[in-house]
Amino acid sequence: MKQILDLHIHSKYSRACSGQLTLENIDAACRVKGIDVIATGDFTYPQWFEAIKNELEEINGGGLYQRRNAISCVPIGEQDKNLNAKYCVPTKFILSTEVALIYKDGGPHARRIHLVIMAPNIEAAGKLNNYLDKNFNIRSDGRPILGMSAPDLVKTCLDIHPQFLIYPAHIWTPWFSVFGSKSGFDKMEECFREQTKNIYAYETGLSSDPEMNWRLSALDNLTLLSNSDAHSLANLGRECNVFDLNDFSYQEIYGIIKNKDLKKIVKTIEFYPEEGMYHYDGHLTCGISFMPSETKKHKGICPVCKKPLTIGVLNRVEELADRPSDIIPKKSYPFVKLVELDKIIAEALGVKSRSSTKVKAEYDKLIKNFGPELFILMDLPLDKLAGRTLPLIAEGIKRVREGKLAIKPGFDGQYGEIKIFTTAEKLQGKTQKPLF
Ligand SMILES: [Zn+2]
Ligand SMILES: [Zn+2]
Repeated sequence: MKQILDLHIHSKYSRACSGQLTLENIDAACRVKGIDVIATGDFTYPQWFEAIKNELEEINGGGLYQRRNAISCVPIGEQDKNLNAKYCVPTKFILSTEVALIYKDGGPHARRIHLVIMAPNIEAAGKLNNYLDKNFNIRSDGRPILGMSAPDLVKTCLDIHPQFLIYPAHIWTPWFSVFGSKSGFDKMEECFREQTKNIYAYETGLSSDPEMNWRLSALDNLTLLSNSDAHSLANLGRECNVFDLNDFSYQEIYGIIKNKDLKKIVKTIEFYPEEGMYHYDGHLTCGISFMPSETKKHKGICPVCKKPLTIGVLNRVEELADRPSDIIPKKSYPFVKLVELDKIIAEALGVKSRSSTKVKAEYDKLIKNFGPELFILMDLPLDKLAGRTLPLIAEGIKRVREGKLAIKPGFDGQYGEIKIFTTAEKLQGKTQKPLF
């Protein structure tokens, strides 16, 4: 059965994360979004781990969990019995956390690497937590900073349980990733050393898409994963994975990722990479945003402050790539790029904030009538929307599917800006009314 998995998110206990990120809210939000399997996030954080143990129960002893008494249906999808059935299925949780490693390994700079850790069950996660709590500070942030090297972390996890799954997070972001321009490496082997053989996957991050990653032959044998790294409910599933699952266990998901099982990986769901915070190079405070060729012209130096620019993901991919941009590797799988439904609605309504009440009302109406957000964005036949929403919203979904939109790329920590419609179209759209 096709299932949508988002394997890296955060809880309310991580820095700069929404207080709304409780297990109950995450479960409900995933049903609205159409996410079937969600990361718990932050399992190393003591209070969150307590909540996981108290509020979740294991499904058939298989290492996936659901909320206790979670059978109650989320009251949406009244129009369609099949959809209602979907909302009544509790979201499955998989134990997952992100850690920040900061350490010296002989290079000129300190290394700063973020890794995702997935745990096979609560017992194994508890053992890892105990070890980390004795040796490091895991009590000040849901995403703890550990003063240990990447190979040491991998070994520590695997000594506790051979089916921990460890992989580098958002591998291209400049400051905190394995290939980051500021504190990373040029090769996986340089980072993971003798443990490289135990790394089976990597996460693309928002600012890169599969095509960009395909340019590195060194990544061919690893499983490309896309996760939301959400810090709020609204961002859950903004990137995720579609797997074909049969027995809904940790074991099954672990096996698919470890073996890069192309029969089971259906596709990934992607952010438009230009929208990511580090797609281009630049300096936010100096108002400088450069594409890689402009950075080259300026020799990597900011023309305003004369300091080195923050080199973004596109540039860094160019630097490490060993093949051209039109290559599709043999062992690859499809992907789609999406823009979240509330952003499309906000664009169509000419409203700035995706969280405004006007946008929320239209969003809720669409979910109630047609089903989960990811279904609407990817699969809903658009003629069904005729007369049921503003024509501009239906047109927006169509353009997102077709990639017909303009994006001012993000840089130096600022998200890119999406433009689906021209100003004239928006003005015209304001005078249109739904037909029912
Ligand atoms: Zn991170
Ligand atoms: Zn500058």
